[in-house]
Amino acid sequence: MNVRRTNQLTGGVIVALIALAMTCGCQSRLISRDQEIQLGRDAGDDFEHKHGRDTNAQRSALVKSIGANLERAAEPPDYSYDYRVLGDDTTNAVAFPGGRIYIFRGMIKELDGNRDKIAWILAHETAHVARQHAVRRIERQLGYEAIIALIFKKESAARIAGAVGSLMLLDYGRDNEFEADRMGMLYAHNAGYDPTAAVAVLELFQEVQGREPNDFEIMFATHPGNKDRINHARGYIEKMGWRGDYYKP
Ligand SMILES: [Zn+2]
Repeated sequence: MNVRRTNQLTGGVIVALIALAMTCGCQSRLISRDQEIQLGRDAGDDFEHKHGRDTNAQRSALVKSIGANLERAAEPPDYSYDYRVLGDDTTNAVAFPGGRIYIFRGMIKELDGNRDKIAWILAHETAHVARQHAVRRIERQLGYEAIIALIFKKESAARIAGAVGSLMLLDYGRDNEFEADRMGMLYAHNAGYDPTAAVAVLELFQEVQGREPNDFEIMFATHPGNKDRINHARGYIEKMGWRGDYYKP
């Protein structure tokens, strides 16, 4: 059998299937679970190589212990989460498809190492993975070429890892961010942390954004506006009937 020809034929069929899936607006998946995990790892490794790991063992241990509690509280579909600290003073956090989650050292410092606040940030990122915002964005935005490269493991996979890293730093749009805010509070609550910390974090970011707009990273700087997110978080806390130290309805 002519393997090359078979590949070309298979490629044609896959392109047709992808085109169909992308135009129908349905929820069918283009990237399998295994591919999602592999892609997230490759892109995460690439991202980590650029930013460097934090060398402080205490900070890493803190993030890993909070992460372990969140992993148990996250909703299915289950991923194997991996929480890591980057040695960079940016105020940011980022999730990769399949469960690799990074928080920057600058974010931990900005939150004074507060467990409830860090838990909500990590839980927000966890929700982007659990609710498949991350993988769906790749399906939507990287297009056929990336998916074909994933399927056939072409050499462009390395380039795609870099593109995924840049893509993951953008915000996910209003609906997904609100959902990650709510799910983040729920996971944090279910993991034993005070979910009202979300309000304190969003208020702090609003203040930081006013103080140092240029240093402020995209995760909390883009739409939906911080004010909307604060109101949304307060509304959810009230709906859930939670009482906590950071926000009292
Ligand atoms: Zn987000």
